[in-house]
Amino acid sequence: ALSQKLDAIFKKLRGKGKLSESDVKEAMREIRLALLEADVNYKVVKDFISKVTERAIGHEVMESLTPGQQVIKIVYDELTNLMGSKETKLNLKGNPAVIMLVGLQGSGKTTTAGKLGNYLSKMGRRPLLVAADIYRPAAIKQLHVVGDKVKVPVFSMGERKPVEIARASVEHAFRHGNDVIILDTAGRLHIDEELMEELKEIKSAVDPCEILLVVDSMTGQDAVNVAESFHSKLELTGLILTKLDGDTRGGAALSIKAVTGCPIKFVGMGEKLDDLEQFYPDRMASRILGMGDVLSLIEKATQNIDIKKAKELEERIRKEQFDLNDFLDQLKQVRKMGSLDQIFSMIPGFSPQKMQGLDFNEKELVKVEAIINSMTKEERRNPSIINGSRRKRIAMGSGTTVQDVNKLLKQFEQMKKLMKQLSEMEKSHKKGRFRI
Ligand code: GDP
Ligand code: MG
Repeated sequence: ALSQKLDAIFKKLRGKGKLSESDVKEAMREIRLALLEADVNYKVVKDFISKVTERAIGHEVMESLTPGQQVIKIVYDELTNLMGSKETKLNLKGNPAVIMLVGLQGSGKTTTAGKLGNYLSKMGRRPLLVAADIYRPAAIKQLHVVGDKVKVPVFSMGERKPVEIARASVEHAFRHGNDVIILDTAGRLHIDEELMEELKEIKSAVDPCEILLVVDSMTGQDAVNVAESFHSKLELTGLILTKLDGDTRGGAALSIKAVTGCPIKFVGMGEKLDDLEQFYPDRMASRILGMGDVLSLIEKATQNIDIKKAKELEERIRKEQFDLNDFLDQLKQVRKMGSLDQIFSMIPGFSPQKMQGLDFNEKELVKVEAIINSMTKEERRNPSIINGSRRKRIAMGSGTTVQDVNKLLKQFEQMKKLMKQLSEMEKSHKKGRFRI
């Protein structure tokens, strides 16, 4: 994959104390190839490489103590710029605010309508989904199913003209207190004039604050072409890239903003209706560079963990007071966030080897809980006092073996280290320092 290739190139760069101009040029050649193989638009690649090269063979880099890292930082910066540098928020002007979703058949419009409805209602909005795709027999039904799942109301009028449906939905929203409308429009297999005319008509009838093109990232360069042509007809306000969870090579994500000028606002990361993420260029760049996505990790953690508890925990980790009670708590929390490997894979520099012995399944968790419950207060607070005879007693009391107790104590030490790493990383991010 792209990130593995870049990682290998960067390893070489980092390994060098001093960089010559030809070192940089060689690295750039390799990056160029890796990007092209990832299906990034060739013009975008050309521009990108020339920008990075120009900066990389400048004085500050070549004469710095860590030239390799400086180059990597430049690649990261420019990748971020390529994708839009800053995240672009949804514009929700108007009452109701009208969001129009457009795109080819199968790109994920209906699913995304549900995801957006879900997202907005979690934000405290009162969205309404509108079935304006009348050509595919099951399309209206599909939107109703999706709406039911996320408990967002759906407005449909059978096979009336889409522009009439759109108009009526605004009325309906106004009367029912819905402050955002999400229009699920029809797609075709290919772009055609008739479809564009219909979309233009809807646009002028309801004056959307957002016209978002839903594009399938798996289609690579095609996605970029589709975006260009929709943009030229409809003046898109943004893009939603779907199926980024799949086997995409990354080309669409990297080229589409640079080619069309339209910002990516969201990405679809799965078929489920909460698999929608706001798009952050810098995070995507670090994901692509394989540096791990610490920011997403931290956000994910704060979503699921009680903030106050997390603060307390951080304090305890900092003061190195993290004990077995916290450990047990932490295991439970971590499980709420998803599987452990999934979470740790987002930490930069974290190899699967380090993960070994840290993955707990449900059964093991029950065991761990039993073992910790069999310890005295003092033992939980200060595990270093747990000697051989205590281990035997704890094993007996919890119906486990001494090996189980040993294993747990070892895992605890590992977790403690990990937690410390995490909290240091979080601190350095808050300071805005960039780590590679
Ligand atoms: P539409 O024709 O544009 O309305 O597309 P649909 O919403 O019906 O989606 C087409 C297919 O793509 C469905 O099977 C969806 O489950 C799937 N899909 C949509 N978004 C995503 C995504 O982000 N990830 C994955 N893996 N599948 C998606
Ligand atoms: Mg659909």
